[in-house]
Amino acid sequence: MREDFDIRDAGNAALDPIEKENERALRPSSFDSFHGQDKVVDNLKVFVSAARKLGESLDHVLLYGPPGLGKTTLASIVANELGVGIKTTSGPVLDKPGDLAGVLTSLQPNDVLFIDEIHRLSPLVEEYLYSAMEDYRIDIMIDKGPGARTIQLGLSPFTLIGATTRSGLLTSPLRARFGITCHLEYYDVDFLEGIIKRSASLLGISCDNEAAHEIALRSRGTPRIANALLRRVRDFALVKGDGIIEPGITRFALEALNIDKFGLDQIDNRLLTTIIDKFGGGPVGLTTIATAIGEDPGTVEEVYEPFLIKEGFLQRTPRGRQATMLAYKHLGKTFTREGDLFSGD
Ligand code: ADP
Repeated sequence: MREDFDIRDAGNAALDPIEKENERALRPSSFDSFHGQDKVVDNLKVFVSAARKLGESLDHVLLYGPPGLGKTTLASIVANELGVGIKTTSGPVLDKPGDLAGVLTSLQPNDVLFIDEIHRLSPLVEEYLYSAMEDYRIDIMIDKGPGARTIQLGLSPFTLIGATTRSGLLTSPLRARFGITCHLEYYDVDFLEGIIKRSASLLGISCDNEAAHEIALRSRGTPRIANALLRRVRDFALVKGDGIIEPGITRFALEALNIDKFGLDQIDNRLLTTIIDKFGGGPVGLTTIATAIGEDPGTVEEVYEPFLIKEGFLQRTPRGRQATMLAYKHLGKTFTREGDLFSGD
């Protein structure tokens, strides 16, 4: 039994090159194989086919939402559906304007440039990006000292697809340069079930509906976590069962991995426990909670809270955040207010 198994880490491709490779294998490559996010996908389909009809590059796209919901996947689908190439990089990698110029000048006409974690671009690189996005040109300073001069490089038309988990950190000039903005939401259990069944069939594993449902319930609304849990359950099925993912072995595996039955991870549970134990269940301000759990307020607001609110564990009130009865019940806590006493279980 692994007490410290964290579902967010389990699904975090950034941590593990093997997980990264596994993810690539399961990544849908067309709009049709991408489950959920219907509104976003329907709109993108229209914009992509309009760009194809016009023979022009698609307008720049900003995808934002919590990690693991399909931003990278959608960027590569858009490039596929446009029938163009894609170059992938990320905000922290583009350290100097020269790095950006190198990537931009290597693009073919109408190609997609995908910048993950675009909120982490340095201000200087971001400034260079403005003219690239707007006028398809970039001014590069060459040489230093008295001989320094600027040369202007013309670029092929291209589509920038930026992805961010923290849209609040984007500067307004950058945000304003995206013609299309899409917000990705957590997935409902039904969609996750579909994703799990698709992944199981790609991995050549047999997984029945009830088992897929059980995994979906514990995936924190996130396909990346669903796929990672599927692989871990598959391991248990191979070693402790007959290789088939059925409800019995699924429950056994999820239990052994200590996966929260609502899909909440350690940070979610810590956040709720802190509000209840330290602040009487709230209402309590965002910054106070963030300080108490050692996280950045923006990350709490944009990455952790939305799922807790969606699932009914947390409420945003004008006076701050408040834990709901469901949170008390889930954590086995007793709710007390103005002399009323309710049992938490
Ligand atoms: P993000 O870039 O938002 O962090 P990714 O695009 O890397 O997320 O997706 C993580 C994993 O989840 C990928 O392996 C992908 O296969 C899977 N995935 C995400 N969204 C979907 C979806 N709608 N349908 C099927 N698989 C998905």
